[in-house]
Amino acid sequence: LNRAWLPDLIYADGRWLPDHAIVCDDTGTIVSIAESHEAADAIRFPRRALLPGLVNAHSHAFQRVIRGRTERRSEHSTDSFWTWREQMYAAANRLEPQDIYAASRLAFLEMALTGITAVGEFHYIHHSPEGSRYSDPNLLEREVIRAARDVGIRIALLRVAYARAGYEIEPNPLQKRFIEESPDEYLKNLEELLSVPELNDGHAWVGVAPHSVRAVPLDYLKTIVAFANERALPVHMHVAEQPAEVSACIEEYGRSPVALLDTEGLLSKRFTAVHAIHVTPKAISAMARSGAIVCACPTTERNLGDGVVPAKSYFDGGIVVALGSDSQIQIDLLEDARELEYHLRLQHTSRNVLAPSDDTSSAALARRLFDCATINGATSIGFQGGKLEVGAPADFFTVDLDDPSIAGSSRDDLLANIVFSLSRSAVSDVVVGGKQIVANGRHEAQEAIVQEYSHRLHG
Ligand SMILES: [Zn+2]
Repeated sequence: LNRAWLPDLIYADGRWLPDHAIVCDDTGTIVSIAESHEAADAIRFPRRALLPGLVNAHSHAFQRVIRGRTERRSEHSTDSFWTWREQMYAAANRLEPQDIYAASRLAFLEMALTGITAVGEFHYIHHSPEGSRYSDPNLLEREVIRAARDVGIRIALLRVAYARAGYEIEPNPLQKRFIEESPDEYLKNLEELLSVPELNDGHAWVGVAPHSVRAVPLDYLKTIVAFANERALPVHMHVAEQPAEVSACIEEYGRSPVALLDTEGLLSKRFTAVHAIHVTPKAISAMARSGAIVCACPTTERNLGDGVVPAKSYFDGGIVVALGSDSQIQIDLLEDARELEYHLRLQHTSRNVLAPSDDTSSAALARRLFDCATINGATSIGFQGGKLEVGAPADFFTVDLDDPSIAGSSRDDLLANIVFSLSRSAVSDVVVGGKQIVANGRHEAQEAIVQEYSHRLHG
């Protein structure tokens, strides 16, 4: 049985279509986007504009539990990414499987309420709080997948490989829940996850995520990337987030992280470099040649003091840039989209840095940034979403055209209003695979999810 929705405007193929209905079949696939009179029994969304669902390409859902708790001076003389990391580890090490579920479900709920319909979850907690193996090596992975399913968003579970604290660095006991020492152990557990029956139905799937060049030595890295390439799985890796990671890599291999990945043949169209902040022009050229994707996480990067993603160089090199909410300090992918541009404005003391040179319309820059939050993210996590067209999944959200944050927009400036100024309060309805999960800004399980989280994690 087909279902149809009829908003005032639909954003498809880079433009606004008035008075069109979007129709999907019972598999949740779009079968038409056509003039509205052909769909008499459509569900009406009056005073709403409908857009493709946002794709959050980099998330650590459990980090939601430390929100608001690290914004203070610690006993260290200077707080940095590395001191934040110790606080994050301490929180991670307390979480039981049900806590991971509750925290993930809350993070995914917040994502859904902002129009996110798919997430790439970079998941690295594998073992018990004591560091012992669970009898199911993917127990926590399955809890995270269950949380996404219960909220109703799609999930690419990017299963993380973590072998060591770093080059010539003593094991860090705070990392004991992450470590799978050999590629054999990692691949055995990954294969088990790949064979889990609830996976691979289009709503949940698996990718390979070597944590970083710091945490995974080269032989291990090559083995698991080769496995991913054989199976055509997405590969995600933190790359050049911090200068210390770059200098340690040069010390170990005589090459920067990107140079190492490039010369070892590990970059490809399926490879996403998360952050990719501290890079040289030569590294950017290497990434462009290989077709590798960059995932920027500007709301987290500004919070952690990581630095600025050189997005202008990536855009100029034709590199696909996706976006992620990463630490969950803020879950609002459109905020990440605008910060990608705003950080460059502060750096360059100029405006419209990422605007294309051949299009001066007010929608041109907004369109590029919106693509980062949608289709580029979908490409990064390995699925055919992030756009509204026949054959694509019916994943979309609506915004209230009368919300004060965007009221009075014309069709010409509506997308720029949404990208630069939309408040979360304007997100009204969210549909994933043809199923409505948010209506009038509320998720049907919202109260229960919030209560369970508050009771369990902060009770
Ligand atoms: Zn991350």
